[in-house]
Formats: sequence, C-alpha cells, structure tokens
Amino acid sequence: MKNYLSERARKLAPYTAGEQPKDRKYVKLNTNENPYPPSPKAAEVLHSFDAESLKLYPAPDSSALCAAIAAAEGVEPENVFCGNGSDEILALCLPAFFDEGGEGAAFADITYSFYPVFCRFFGVPYTQIPLEEDFTLDLEKLTRASAQGVIVANPNAPTGIGISLPEIENFVRENSGRVVILDEAYMPFFGQSAVPLIRQYKNLLVVKTFSKGYSLAGMRCGYAVGDVSLIDGLCRCKDCFNSYPVDRVCQAVCAAAVSDGAYYAQKNALVISERERLSDALRALGFQVLPSKSNFVFARHGRLAGREVYEGLRARGVLVRWFDKPRIADFVRITVGSPEENAALLYALSELVR
Ligand SMILES: *Cc1c(COP(=O)(O)O)cnc(C)c1O
Repeated sequence: MKNYLSERARKLAPYTAGEQPKDRKYVKLNTNENPYPPSPKAAEVLHSFDAESLKLYPAPDSSALCAAIAAAEGVEPENVFCGNGSDEILALCLPAFFDEGGEGAAFADITYSFYPVFCRFFGVPYTQIPLEEDFTLDLEKLTRASAQGVIVANPNAPTGIGISLPEIENFVRENSGRVVILDEAYMPFFGQSAVPLIRQYKNLLVVKTFSKGYSLAGMRCGYAVGDVSLIDGLCRCKDCFNSYPVDRVCQAVCAAAVSDGAYYAQKNALVISERERLSDALRALGFQVLPSKSNFVFARHGRLAGREVYEGLRARGVLVRWFDKPRIADFVRITVGSPEENAALLYALSELVR
C-alpha cells in the first residue's frame, strides 16, 4: 500500500509521555501532577464562565493573562508570552532562536527528553553534555559547548536536582553571546526563579508552566518571561503556526490561578514537606534518593533493578516512571503525591523490598 506520510513524519521518534492506563484504578505517581486541587478562585472562574463568549476567538496574545502573570512575576506584560502548555513554548523556541543546520543547541544528556525531540523536528543540531557522576550539571562544560543557544531545566528532570540562583546568574552572564533558555517547570518547589534577572540579561528566557505548581495540567498553559526582543521572536513563530493557542477558558482560569499566589504557596509547601518525608522513608527502605528540589524524587534501590521496581509497583496498582536509558535504568521517578498516595506507594514498596 502507498505510504502517504512525508519522509519527515516517517523518520520522527516522538516523545513518550507517561502512561495513562484505564485498565484499573492506579495510584498515579508517574507524570508529576500536583496532588492538590487548583485554587478555589480559579475553580470559581471556571464554574461561572460565560459559555456564550466561546463563539468568539480568544485574545490572540492572551493579553489579560499576560498582565496577570506580569503582576505576579514583577515584570511588564510585554515581557510575557503565553502558550498551549510550556511544551509548545519550548518547541517555538527552536525556530525562534536556532538556525536550521546552524551551530545548534546544547543541553545535558540526562534532562527533559522533549529537547532532543524538538531539535530533530526543527532540524536543529544538538550537543548533549554528560552530567557528572552525582548527576549534577557542570555549567562550565555547558558554557564551553559550541552552540547557538543552551537549554537548562532547573530543577532538572528527571533527577530533581536544583541549581542555585547565583550559579545561574553567573552562567547567564558567561553566556551573554547567546540565548539561555531556562525551563523552570518545577521552580514552585525550589523557589529560586531567575525571572528577576531578565531585566539585566537580554539573552535570558525563563519558561514556566501552570501544569505542576498550579495544579492545572489539564488546562494546558505555560508562559515565557524575557526581554521584548525574545518575546517578539516567539510571537513571530506563533503567528506562523497557531494565532490563538490559548483558549478563552484557559486564559480566564489561569489568570485567576496566577493571582492567587498565597493559596499555591501553602499547597506547594505541603508538597515540599511531603517530598522530604518520602525521601527519608525511601532511604529507610534501601533506596538512594537524589536530593530533589522538585515535586518528584529520583531513586534507585541497592538490590532491585529499576524495571523490577516499576513493574512490581504497577502490579500493586502504583504507577511510577521508569526510563530504559543508559545511566538511569536503575532509577524510578516517583511523583510526590498526597500523604495517602505516598503511604500506598511506601506500603507497596515495603512488600517489594521484602
Ligand atoms: C512537565 C514539564 C514541562 C511542561 O509541561 P506543560 O504541561 O507542557 O506545560 C516542561 N518541562 C519540563 C522539564 C517538565 O517536566
């Protein structure tokens, strides 16, 4: 039969998201969703939403949402760009800041696995800098890499390791000749955002999401903060692809969410304290746990292989994420859930380890 796919589509190796199985009810600790509900103020906006307004297209530049984000982040609205999930923004960064077949992008070998997928999709070459033995990133090695721009997830995924703000500032300064894209998807659980640096460093773009820290993964919204020239590059690319990426409901709900910082500060503090409790409990069960600054932990057992832990937990109704990749195949990534979910995980693990 004739193959109707383009050569490009046939050659793609897409990103694999965490599984969402329907065969039974699982304790779902595999995609780093927040265990707490969204802000009641965001829920109220959703419940009272004027359905009639949906006959009209939304604001193409998400202007009211950008203003709400700007107020929360202490920047100007023209420094903010909104997208349909931060994945979409990270994807738009490639055509915006990298030339096809040019010097390319540089990032860690163990980091968010969407980066190489995006690079291949847009024909941008990439260099991967190996993490150190302890899974930290040597920023000097990344600085020395020849590339048109660099991408750093801080805290990193799937390791959970965070880089302090002074180190990030030094890195951004040393890379002033090229764009630095900081993926701060997990920053709500670390609290050292580089957003205040965007005024001083015109090469810095900080990308954030409503999916993790704002309990709105189902809404699909993310944003970038940076100098107007970078924001303009993203807008130019967006308008060649999808002029209205953020729908009306999403703009309204996310604006309410980002304006309710107090609620999220409280809930995310609970996630952080539960993360520390979970890390200690895992260590007591014989796991090595990397020091996490995110809403998940990355852990390996002394005797059990990563696949055994993943499969054993799955059979007991608990989903975690396992990556069949060099260096990290013995680890599992476990989302910090509610206290009840974490208790279920620890109970299943105690059975497995025994
Ligand atoms: C979850 C995640 C994102 C993005 O998520 P969206 O849901 O598309 O906003 C981006 N980067 C990293 C490292 C993530 O883990």
